[in-house]
Amino acid sequence: MITAKEINNFLNEELNINDIEDTSSNGLQIENNGEIKKIGFAVDACLETFQKAVQLGCQMLIVHHGMIWEGLKYIKGDTYRKIKYLIENNLAVYASHLPLDRHEKYGNNAELARILELKTIKPFGYHNNRTIGFMGETETTLTKIKETLEKNNMKTTTLNFGPEQIKKVALVSGGGSKELYQAIAVGADLYITGESLHFTYHTAKENKINVIFGGHYQTEVWGVQALIPLLKEKFNVETEFIDVPVPI
Ligand SMILES: [Zn+2]
Repeated sequence: MITAKEINNFLNEELNINDIEDTSSNGLQIENNGEIKKIGFAVDACLETFQKAVQLGCQMLIVHHGMIWEGLKYIKGDTYRKIKYLIENNLAVYASHLPLDRHEKYGNNAELARILELKTIKPFGYHNNRTIGFMGETETTLTKIKETLEKNNMKTTTLNFGPEQIKKVALVSGGGSKELYQAIAVGADLYITGESLHFTYHTAKENKINVIFGGHYQTEVWGVQALIPLLKEKFNVETEFIDVPVPI
């Protein structure tokens, strides 16, 4: 019989969850009891995801953005309703935030580098004294990269202030606007992240660098999806990706 705790122990080790400080409480955030026969995989620990997971017959959810950040202070309002729903439906929640951004095999950024077929991939983007992204070399154009991202359901809001010919790409999935300065420092022609902050416009313009905002959600579906075959093989459980897109 497979339990949530066994899956937790396996994933914590596989994802090296203690290698980086994080505001997310990574690991098993909400326990349940009994056997895990089916695991749902999703980006966000929101009520809609929980309801879909229960409808699909899951006993456990693995998410990138969990429920507990910087400790849980109050259990009221939407937090109360979510925890009540999880306990009443015996649904466990495991979260892996920065460990799943930075992982060299299963991480969001490793997957983005693979989609873009980058070569000579190196760690990039320091956050809490650890890198969370990757950078790599390519011989392509900004237009072709945008086409590839769009084919993979990502957005392409672009600040095209750099060259059309792209040789060096730096990546930080999700909310990585502040790492733009590091992309400039390493001489990237293109920086790809999920969502934009106001300051990026003039910073990109004055440093002649291209920036693509691929969508926070859309750049972070990859890590949890990469875990599906791993857990299927290890525990012989049913699995399903639960797509609840965030359109902002
Ligand atoms: Zn994120």
